[in-house]
Amino acid sequence: MHFYTVNMALSFVRSAELQQRAERFLPGGVDSPVRAFRAVGGHPPFVQSAAGAYLVDADGNRFVDMFGSWGPMLLGHAFPPAVAAIREAAGLSASFGASTAAEADLAELVERCYPSIEKLRFVSSGTEACMSAIRLARGFTGRPFVIKFEGCYHGHADALLVKAGSGVATFGIPGSAGVPAETVMHTLALPYNDLAAVEAAFDAHPEQIACVILEPVVGNAGTIPPLPGYLAALRSLTRKHGALLIFDEVMVGFRLAAGGAQELFASELGGLPDLTTLGKIVGGGLPVGVFGGRAEIMDCLAPLGPVYQAGTLSGNPLAMAAGIATLRALLDGRSEIYPKLEKTTAAIANGVARLAAELGIALTTNRVGSMFTWFFTPEKVTDFASASTSDTAAFARFHRAMLEHGVWLPPSQYEAAFVSAQHGEAEVDLVLNAAREALKAAIS
Ligand SMILES: *Cc1c(COP(=O)(O)O)cnc(C)c1O
Repeated sequence: MHFYTVNMALSFVRSAELQQRAERFLPGGVDSPVRAFRAVGGHPPFVQSAAGAYLVDADGNRFVDMFGSWGPMLLGHAFPPAVAAIREAAGLSASFGASTAAEADLAELVERCYPSIEKLRFVSSGTEACMSAIRLARGFTGRPFVIKFEGCYHGHADALLVKAGSGVATFGIPGSAGVPAETVMHTLALPYNDLAAVEAAFDAHPEQIACVILEPVVGNAGTIPPLPGYLAALRSLTRKHGALLIFDEVMVGFRLAAGGAQELFASELGGLPDLTTLGKIVGGGLPVGVFGGRAEIMDCLAPLGPVYQAGTLSGNPLAMAAGIATLRALLDGRSEIYPKLEKTTAAIANGVARLAAELGIALTTNRVGSMFTWFFTPEKVTDFASASTSDTAAFARFHRAMLEHGVWLPPSQYEAAFVSAQHGEAEVDLVLNAAREALKAAIS
């Protein structure tokens, strides 16, 4: 058990130097924009290593990790079975560009968790998974339009980069430069949790809508759960209109339950999604994405069907090995892992909510299982518009103060925080102690 005293004056000197050097070679010093901390200010710490629930930076500071590599590290950092599996696979060569037994092994584990997935294909990122699922849905239905929801992020493919939540919301740009209007003319972005908008879109484009894609629990606008009946209504509306329902479970897959959101909401869903996209946890920290679903649809992919999709590093043996080790541990340990995640995350999310209430700070806490967001707003947050009422300046002060007190939250109001199975009572105490000070900073 590690106990360390909260250090009030962490030094970030080495990280600042590394940032300066990185900025000479990389735009903004980063390979993914939100890592640059522009929404919260200050220098992002450069990570040296991580183990369990902790990150260690280049200055030797230790942080309770509350973003888990943006989702993948459900079992904690340097999870020993995954480390061993990656080492072993690496010794056999990092890539072949030919089939290996491991691909079917991981596919079988995924399909055991997800009954809706009869067949699947591996890719190297969540972006690729969603972009390929859309192409497949269009190819299968022969229809052009896609319905997505404001605040939902499905990766950075052109056609999906419309009202896409966190990354773009953080920077206040509507979509992205470099995406021609023609590329998104078949993308309909509707408010989340609003069924009338979906019905109106189906009425406006009869037999033209290929699919509805959504985060069944939104994470990329901060955490926003579906209202009761919403998912079931989307299932029945898509079925009625001959469109496919795609659950983007890149973030929530294996996190909310071994079978993700579709397991968590199974009793009220009234049917399974036609296609599902996965990523993050399924690769155990290595780059893996998955799209899969009904065999009839998946068999439209080349080489069996006319929808083209390919990847040099798809099904990469190191990534498969890490995924297999992770999913095996999840399936073996599910009866302990998920109750523990629930308990730890509730203690952290509700504990800080209570501290905020004591200080008279208006905080709306949305949580589903081991993902949650503290929105700095008195409003109920049910969609992107209500999430946007948050006081992002207060969040930025809170974030910086939490970091100074040894807790690393995701660096944007519009991101979900994550807890791992390696977080426990010691980490609950550290987060609550840090928050006691950081909340005061947030309102000062
Ligand atoms: C992270 C994420 C993606 C994109 O995955 P990448 O691996 O970053 O390309 C897509 N959809 C959702 C819901 C995500 O959270």
